[in-house]
Amino acid sequence: MTCKDCDKSIGPRQYHSSMESLGVHLCERHTQLIKKVVLDNNTSVEAIQLFYALKEAGVHPMLEWWDGKKSVDIAISRVKLNIEIDKNYNMITHEQAISDLEDAMHSFKNGFTTIRIPHLAIKYYLEETVQNILGIISGLKANIKAI
Ligand SMILES: [Zn+2]
Repeated sequence: MTCKDCDKSIGPRQYHSSMESLGVHLCERHTQLIKKVVLDNNTSVEAIQLFYALKEAGVHPMLEWWDGKKSVDIAISRVKLNIEIDKNYNMITHEQAISDLEDAMHSFKNGFTTIRIPHLAIKYYLEETVQNILGIISGLKANIKAI
């Protein structure tokens, strides 16, 4: 068993406690680091899982990236892609809905693409979610080249 971040080997206790609290297996140091991020930003377990899955897929994601106005769950700066994870798709209020759209508009004006992923997609289809994001990234790269 190794830390998903630094590959340091970890014991079964560390494995289970990090899996239980964060949904990924991390060493003590990285568990603390990520827990701090969660505490500061109320980051969802799904965001952490997706962050590490993208890292594993060779993407260079940033967790809780500050865009100057708000913290973005995951950002891939090379292609200016922001990924927001929707925690409770059905519980969204109308104020939240329009504010999300306004946020997306502002990001778009700054050259960023924002995609929103329901947390259930990550929970049940992590592999497929990553594949789709990889597709979006290569699409964005192609667009950048075209300009
Ligand atoms: Zn580590």
